[in-house]
Amino acid sequence: MPELPEVETTRRGLAPHLIGRKVTALDIRQPRLRWPIPRALREKLPGQRIDDIERRAKYLLVHTKAGSALLHLGMSGSLRVLPASTPIGTHDHVDWRLDSGRVLRFTDPRRFGSQLWQPVGTVHALLKDLGPEPLGDDFTGDLLWQRSRGRKAAVKVFLMDQSIVVGVGNIYASEALFHAGIHPKRAAGSVSRERYAKLAAEVKRVLEYSITRGGTTLRDFISPDSEPGYFERELFVYGREGEPCRVCGTPIKAITLGQRSTYFCPRCQR
Ligand SMILES: [Zn+2]
Repeated sequence: MPELPEVETTRRGLAPHLIGRKVTALDIRQPRLRWPIPRALREKLPGQRIDDIERRAKYLLVHTKAGSALLHLGMSGSLRVLPASTPIGTHDHVDWRLDSGRVLRFTDPRRFGSQLWQPVGTVHALLKDLGPEPLGDDFTGDLLWQRSRGRKAAVKVFLMDQSIVVGVGNIYASEALFHAGIHPKRAAGSVSRERYAKLAAEVKRVLEYSITRGGTTLRDFISPDSEPGYFERELFVYGREGEPCRVCGTPIKAITLGQRSTYFCPRCQR
């Protein structure tokens, strides 16, 4: 599933091919994505020039004077800029024709992705209750500390709550908690301010690292590659049940927390 780093890498890869280009027409071969493609997008987007492409959580916002297209990759979606003559595959559901002679092609075998519309001056319902961006200045250890007081939920579940901070997926939550030395099952309200400062720094570090790696593997969006930012050998706990901790040698444990597989070192994390 594309996580925040892959979505950010997609944004950076697409931006030079989209910003300043006009959308001349849409070819919608399958309008039934996670939600149907709304009439407003079909009516308003053609003829518009793309002013900017922004990321909010795992959504991409393609801004025009008439409004913004809100794109999500779902479980298996991808966006590529291709020559208009590129043959169309079974899962190539939508093309935006551009005045550059290329198309922005949305491919999604499982169709959990979406293309929605946000009118000018409004915030789409899906974006309304989101917490701050993890890479932004608003996301700090103090914020985590303040929001967690009195909370009995496991710190990992708390960290993955989109109203607290957006886009910290399962891999990144597990890895950041390991590097911060915090046991994933610990009650969020019992983690000290100092340890939250360390955790916030580790969340930023693991996400930035992954974006950098994504940036190297996805450099050319004309021939994209869906390698995730992290490679197996760089993970400290995620997916490593029973293998020795890279720091202390203790076997890594796996538990389920909030319906998600959770990995940790029982010695390094408390
Ligand atoms: Zn360890």
